[in-house]
Amino acid sequence: MKVFKFGGASVKDAEGLKRVADILSATEGDVIAVISAMGKTTNALEKLVPILDAVTTEKLLGEIEEYHLAMARSVKIPFWESVHTNLERDFRELRVMVQEFKSDNYDERYDYIVSMGEVMSTHIVSGYLAGEGIKNEWIDARNVIMTDDTHRDAKVDFDKTQKQIKTQLLKSVKQNRIAVTQGFIGKSDKEHPVTLGREGSDYTAAIIAYCADAESVTIWKDVPGVLNADPKKFADTVKLDYLSYQDAIELAYYGATVIHPKTIKPLQNKNIPLFVKPFGDQNASGTCIHTNTSPLPVPCFISKTDQVLLSLSPKDFSFIAEENLSLIFDCFAKHHVKVNMMQHSAINFSVCIDSDPRKLSALLDELRNNYRVLYNENVELFTIRYYDQPTIDRITKDRNILLEQRSRYTVQVVVK
Ligand code: ASP
Ligand code: MG
Repeated sequence: MKVFKFGGASVKDAEGLKRVADILSATEGDVIAVISAMGKTTNALEKLVPILDAVTTEKLLGEIEEYHLAMARSVKIPFWESVHTNLERDFRELRVMVQEFKSDNYDERYDYIVSMGEVMSTHIVSGYLAGEGIKNEWIDARNVIMTDDTHRDAKVDFDKTQKQIKTQLLKSVKQNRIAVTQGFIGKSDKEHPVTLGREGSDYTAAIIAYCADAESVTIWKDVPGVLNADPKKFADTVKLDYLSYQDAIELAYYGATVIHPKTIKPLQNKNIPLFVKPFGDQNASGTCIHTNTSPLPVPCFISKTDQVLLSLSPKDFSFIAEENLSLIFDCFAKHHVKVNMMQHSAINFSVCIDSDPRKLSALLDELRNNYRVLYNENVELFTIRYYDQPTIDRITKDRNILLEQRSRYTVQVVVK
């Protein structure tokens, strides 16, 4: 059994849906297709999470509904009635959540609303495939991916999930060959919808592959495979044919958007290969991520934008040693702030974190009780794996280096 993941860009228009159908009909054997929300739907749904006035809410909801109806109409689904019924129900559910579910827990409200993108998308894809003669069953990932209640970053309960995968997804592929399900979403132990973090559909594919002992996972993307740098930011990129799990996880963790960083662990743990293939050319080799011991043939460099560099010094002039470090890290963990790079001296601790204004102000308030805090916003963190001097020069040219760290294989620099 193979697991395929199709991202939002792959299912954003009629042409994309046709290609999904082509790929699935050309594939032999059982397939679980994990699908994202269509196009930029997740971003559109995120706008509905803050409580807005009625007119704006109506406008945003209307746009989302119209986009999905237009998508469904553009591919002419023979079983339109049943797809339409499902979509109408999804729209109603979304509307109720936006208008009536006013939890003071922002993250919980987020999950109720934003999880609907994948639900609507898979209703269209599944109905469209059926209309094209590709038998499949729509499976609700909220009954399969079982998690705790950390909204927007839910932690998967692999034991419970494995049971659900056996009884739902594996049973379904046995009967239908193809099961269609949602990436990114699941259900908490309190029976509430959850999400796994932005771009989390890749992770869903890996969770399913792990629990179902799949032969491989393929992520179909709008790039030829994994490249050594982001082609949107740098010229002369090179496609990597093979990548080790270790290199893949290091690159993904530090900002390579091609794969979600959590995707690698479940696959590595079961030695399942991960293919990243171009959506436009299903016969191309793409990149294979597996056990591989040779270093990469070229330096790889990635960047994380929208970073904040914090600099902390204890007000009482105490050393940055175990006690202070533990206090500082407790504070980061409590506010769910992700640390991307750190360095310390006798009485100074510098740390590069993701910028999230809502989390940041609460974090800073607490840190200021014990530390003098300076911060620098809008900085960029570059990570170069298998670095060489020309690559470092290329990245740091005309930039102000605020922090730098080197190990045997990796250089990281925070620049402004
Ligand atoms: N739809 C979600 C997002 O845009 C999950 C995904 O696409 O992987 O973040
Ligand atoms: Mg995506």
